[in-house]
Amino acid sequence: MNKITKVILITLIIILSLITGVIGYDRFTANNKYSINEKNLKIPILVYHDIVENKSEVEFDYMQTTKEIFEKQITGLMNLGYKPISYEDLIAYKNGEEKIYKKSFLIGFDDGFDGVYKYAYPFAKENNIPITSFLINDFVGLDGYYTWDNAREMDKSGVVKIYSHSLKHDNYDTYSKEDLLKDVNASLAQIEKELGHSVEKIFTYPCGKFNKEEQEFLRKNGIIQNLTDNKINQSKNLNLSGLHRMYPLNDPVWKILLKIEYRSIKYGS
Ligand SMILES: [Zn+2]
Repeated sequence: MNKITKVILITLIIILSLITGVIGYDRFTANNKYSINEKNLKIPILVYHDIVENKSEVEFDYMQTTKEIFEKQITGLMNLGYKPISYEDLIAYKNGEEKIYKKSFLIGFDDGFDGVYKYAYPFAKENNIPITSFLINDFVGLDGYYTWDNAREMDKSGVVKIYSHSLKHDNYDTYSKEDLLKDVNASLAQIEKELGHSVEKIFTYPCGKFNKEEQEFLRKNGIIQNLTDNKINQSKNLNLSGLHRMYPLNDPVWKILLKIEYRSIKYGS
């Protein structure tokens, strides 16, 4: 073996050991839990819209994910040590009342499509995975959207939490801040009435449209707010009045992982 071959071989062994070490460490520490000040964690929130049975049913690929791909994404992430948590866990974590797993992530669905009830809910229930659905009050029960009965059934299961995506999915960035707050509170009040219990004040802006004044006003009034900006939350600047969310769409797991890493670096400071 000449000198160059030896150097290449040794370098390869070092690189392989490093990779194995990092993966091993990652696996070994996947069950570690941390409080908010202990460690800066990346906390991705995946946002889906509709889940459809198979590829032939996909009409809008920017908002529909097939059942098979959705399940592959979630189980793929979980096999890599990612643990799904609920918004309640995230709030308790932010308030310093709860620790969360090193690789926690959240799963949400905007709009209240019936694919959530038909496909995401049975999968979540079977695997005890917390998921969150943000419904539009005026769309509940319309063609393609789940009903209040479906909502109650999902809510009772304990794995699905239901919050607000506004009363009518309007361009709320053009509303006065007072009118927006009224809309959000009316939406949440109806959800509470239909489900028969109080819920956390969590709201998702339709089409991700909002203005800074509204965001601040809702914050002051205790509303937790979801954005749709394809960014990743981090413990060190976790903001419950502007939670970042990313679209997994029909991405393979490796692409979701790359997006989490890349966007954490790009927007993480
Ligand atoms: Zn929407």
